[in-house]
Amino acid sequence: MDQKEMYIRLGISPRVYELGQETCRSLSEDFSHFDEVAEYNQLKVLLAMQKNRVTEECFGASTGYGYNDYGRDTLERVYADTFHTEAALVRPQIACGTHALAIALFGNLRPGDEILAPAGKPYDTLEEVIGIRPARGSLAEYGVTYRQVDLLKDGSFDYEGIRKALTKKTRLVEIQRSKGYQTRPSFSVKAIGELIAFIRRLSPDVICMVDNCYGEFVDIIEPSDVGADMTVGSLIKNPGGGLAPIGGYIAGTKECVENAAVRMTCPGLGMEVGATLGVNRSFFQGFFLAPMITRNALKGAVFAARIYEELGFDVVPGSREPRQDIIQAVTLGSQERLAAFCKGIQAGAPVDSMVTPEPSDMPGYDSQVIMAAGAFVQGSSIELSADGPCREPYAVYFQGGLTFEHAKLGILMSVQKLVERGLVEL
Ligand SMILES: *Cc1c(COP(=O)(O)O)cnc(C)c1O
Repeated sequence: MDQKEMYIRLGISPRVYELGQETCRSLSEDFSHFDEVAEYNQLKVLLAMQKNRVTEECFGASTGYGYNDYGRDTLERVYADTFHTEAALVRPQIACGTHALAIALFGNLRPGDEILAPAGKPYDTLEEVIGIRPARGSLAEYGVTYRQVDLLKDGSFDYEGIRKALTKKTRLVEIQRSKGYQTRPSFSVKAIGELIAFIRRLSPDVICMVDNCYGEFVDIIEPSDVGADMTVGSLIKNPGGGLAPIGGYIAGTKECVENAAVRMTCPGLGMEVGATLGVNRSFFQGFFLAPMITRNALKGAVFAARIYEELGFDVVPGSREPRQDIIQAVTLGSQERLAAFCKGIQAGAPVDSMVTPEPSDMPGYDSQVIMAAGAFVQGSSIELSADGPCREPYAVYFQGGLTFEHAKLGILMSVQKLVERGLVEL
């Protein structure tokens, strides 16, 4: 059986297969850029691992309190050195990205403080953490207030608005690198650095926190390299390399990281406790692989962008634009197309390929969401996945792919489903 027949057996028609081959041929330059970034980041991680003398002993499992967990402490130094920060908290006790962001906020804010979002609304799930949408236990209930400055119409920072919004109360600014469920472009690390520098000139002591979810290893610098006091993310996205089964991280100043740690455990205990129960090996190995895995996902994203652009859809970012994260948004314009797209991604998966994604309510999200994921780790979005809120403009957010080859198949399957239902024409 040749390659084309394999695709046909997987459900791809000859016409869609050819479209995939043409698209790949047109992308070789983009791919070589991703290879260069990945090579640089691979060396960065290797340097950090060697400097911190990672050994077999690091892969042991602690239980109970987890005192003196050598592997855990070494891993945190590896993260800190990779992000060029004083400290890092990298733990399986951090349940997800939202949890990491929440402990970073709760640990560093006190009643009477104000959070400023200088670059638009934070990620959906943070609305309840902050209390933008009333929620039990939110920061608002503890007397922390919130203020937001939206981007200007052209997508740039509203420096004048930010100047006005920064007051004596402002204790922390939250900047989200990736677009999340918005159709704005994601911010480059450089642009985040300029925003932080502007804020620092006005308020030298304000804590600058960056939600780095989906951004790790996309560039050769991270927000921590351009002045962020805390850079925060999830281990079931880029830095977990597909192997971490759980976890989150906060890399930053010693002060900020320790403040977050006493919120993760409790005052007095901080970073000292927290057993790793055998996950250290996958945390290390996943972080080692993460630059390459991120590259694979980037190749998948640009492949999706090019193919859907050619089919006439709006895509963010465009296939020729620089990438700041691994997310690809495609505006599909209808519920039927959103469902068909997700069905295709699901049908291409190594796990649960037979199931049909249905819209459902999701904790933390304010409209129904349809999701496709056939992942080895539940909800892992460094693995190939697609999701979209069931609301106008019916944009699907597509991300991940541990291998480009799998991402390519998934995207071709999504095109296939749209074609079969008469929702696009080739
Ligand atoms: C995924 C994500 C989060 C939240 O992470 P969860 O693991 O889903 O809780 C926060 N911010 C951004 C930008 C994200 O992409």
